[in-house]
Amino acid sequence: MEKRVRLRFAPSPTGGLHMGGVRTALFSYLYAKKHGGDFILRIEDTDQTRYVKGAEEYIIAALKWCGIEPNEGVGFGDGKFAPYRQSERKELGIYAKYAKQLIDSGNAYYAFDTSEELDAMRKRLEAAKVVAPQYNSVSRQNMRNSLTLSEDDVKKLLDAGTPHVVRLKVPRNEEIRFHDIIRGWVVVNSTQVDDKVLLKSDGMPTYHLAHIVDDIEMEVSHAVRGEEWLPSAPSHVLIYRYLGMEDKMPQFAHLPLILKTDGNGKLSKRDKSGIPMFPLDWFDERTNESYVGYRESGFFPEAFVNMLAMLGWNPGTTQEIFSLDELVEAFSFERVNKSGAKFDPEKTKWFNQQYLRAKSDSELATLFSPLLAENLKGTQESRHKNQAFVEGVCKLVKEKAHFVSEFWANGNYFFITPTTYDADVIKKRWNEQSATFIKEVTEAFKSLSSFTAAETEATFKATAEKLGMGPGQVMQLFRVCLSGVGGGPMLFEMVELLGKEVVVNRLETATNNIK
Ligand code: GLU
Repeated sequence: MEKRVRLRFAPSPTGGLHMGGVRTALFSYLYAKKHGGDFILRIEDTDQTRYVKGAEEYIIAALKWCGIEPNEGVGFGDGKFAPYRQSERKELGIYAKYAKQLIDSGNAYYAFDTSEELDAMRKRLEAAKVVAPQYNSVSRQNMRNSLTLSEDDVKKLLDAGTPHVVRLKVPRNEEIRFHDIIRGWVVVNSTQVDDKVLLKSDGMPTYHLAHIVDDIEMEVSHAVRGEEWLPSAPSHVLIYRYLGMEDKMPQFAHLPLILKTDGNGKLSKRDKSGIPMFPLDWFDERTNESYVGYRESGFFPEAFVNMLAMLGWNPGTTQEIFSLDELVEAFSFERVNKSGAKFDPEKTKWFNQQYLRAKSDSELATLFSPLLAENLKGTQESRHKNQAFVEGVCKLVKEKAHFVSEFWANGNYFFITPTTYDADVIKKRWNEQSATFIKEVTEAFKSLSSFTAAETEATFKATAEKLGMGPGQVMQLFRVCLSGVGGGPMLFEMVELLGKEVVVNRLETATNNIK
């Protein structure tokens, strides 16, 4: 029988979520949904020293914001494999049971070495010019473990409660082969593989043991994770083999790194060069730093998710804009690149712009309204309460914006009469003739009965012609008189939206103010 498709996102609650982590979750989600399977959230909190309060809540909120919600796991219903937090699973003795099985079958052993002894070993190996000193099939022979000590001594040490770890017994000079969906066949000689710690001296399992036990017990079909785990994958393959559970081993997919914009190294949390990496805001209590995330920067979750999908994956066509459902449809691990994906903050904004343009004016008005209310607090202005007017403003200002948050900066003059006027334009364009034009066009506007863009534009041109001027000579000045600034949306659309009374009033005010 085909295995049910079950993928897990298994973050460690050690801080906010890095973009790479969200991408791992996204790709797992897409694959699970595409194949009608499950997407599970497991919290890997066995490293108590790196535990950060609030990180778990942050992770859950981030997944919800992105719309990539697990259907099973911590915070998402009582799945049949609960608990989904490793610290709770440890209490149930789940990991110890598997470690014991490995010890009993001779594939794992107790090691009693102190940190000083481990240090001395490393120095010895370095002095002997060993390139990568590690605890392995050779060096373990000179250490204090249940392979070198007598059975009696081991028993005594254990009975006396001597601190110890449990290590995987990696064989010498054996070929380890495994398949990765993205990378194909990977072959490693076991001589390069160290005897990984499986259980720590505090009885906590390491990642290496815990995730395998959980992937087996939770019937995970595909283990998707960052490329940084590729070097330890051979150890994981051995553990499955020694547990006699190779048939339960999930298919691996190691995702490529996300690189800095210049391609120089991995994009990290500390990277201030791009946009901060978090989809929410996050305060890091260890460093006292706070990060403003994608959500706070005004990104739409759909745009963020779309951008993220394109980091390392491509659909094989030129299509760039994908809804989540379309991504589910199009996604496959075969189209994920092996090489790192360069992060491009400009492209990221471009994605947001595409989504912004696709939104209806009424949706945008709803998003813009709270900003308007805040900025206009305490003023007499009331037009921000007029839905049709706000929609009209959105329609005009969205063309040049990437974010709704820019609407205020680019369009506040729709609500507030300007009191200053672009000095460069005034200096260049304000003279006796153009001042006359502004006066005449004001009068001509007053007598218009219909104040549409077409009507006002025709009046504008006729007035210029009458004075023997080209419309280009006064166009920008006219705009500055109305808005205070030299650039903006389609001029006569703006005139129509502002309406006759406001336009006439502003032109008169400008004539009085500009000297
Ligand atoms: N807890 C690991 C991490 O945060 C999970 C890796 C995996 O998905 O297996 O990197």
